[in-house]
Amino acid sequence: PYPTEIREYLYKILVIGDLGTGKTSIIKRYVHNIFSQNYKSTIGVDFALKVIQWSPDTVVRLQLWDIAGQERFGNMTRVYYKEAVAALVVYDVTRPKTFEAVSKWKADLDSKVSLPDGEPIPVILLANKIDLQEEMSGPLDTEELDTFCDEHGFLKWFGTSAKNNSNIDDAAQYLLEEIMSRE
Ligand code: GDP
Ligand code: MG
Repeated sequence: PYPTEIREYLYKILVIGDLGTGKTSIIKRYVHNIFSQNYKSTIGVDFALKVIQWSPDTVVRLQLWDIAGQERFGNMTRVYYKEAVAALVVYDVTRPKTFEAVSKWKADLDSKVSLPDGEPIPVILLANKIDLQEEMSGPLDTEELDTFCDEHGFLKWFGTSAKNNSNIDDAAQYLLEEIMSRE
């Protein structure tokens, strides 16, 4: 009866964290549903597009920005972060040093990017490689992670595996719901 107007949104989402934590793997899994043991880290900017039919009349395009080779410096430029509406910060549960870097990445984000209203962008923490439980010193301390997220302004954390495809869709869905709730 009435022509339906399709609403379209394009969002830039940053995926950051230390080298080797699984950023590229998470993106490839989420966008192409594939996993490989080695993705070459090419220097430069790399991004992937995930198109989601959010509702019958709403299409969302997520542009996932992968830092390629520059994460060794532990920070990115303001220009790189520009106009991002959300971020995923990734660490590797088998390497505690990569968790120590998480607060540094969060501080880098908060100092260089914010939403148009001045609020910090929503950020989710991904504890990746949970399929490698046997290489961890103990089980994931979920209470500690909850407290850490409260104290450092993360929306929420998820234990993920790009290898086994665990929780990546859930984390992305959670972030997207947060983004859409602000539209
Ligand atoms: P990046 O440097 O953060 O982009 O990390 P990569 O995506 O290149 O992953 C680094 C290494 O960890 C690669 O050998 C991946 O295959 C491996 N890897 C990534 N995610 C997982 C995971 O969830 N489980 C396991 N077992 N290995 C993973
Ligand atoms: Mg990579």
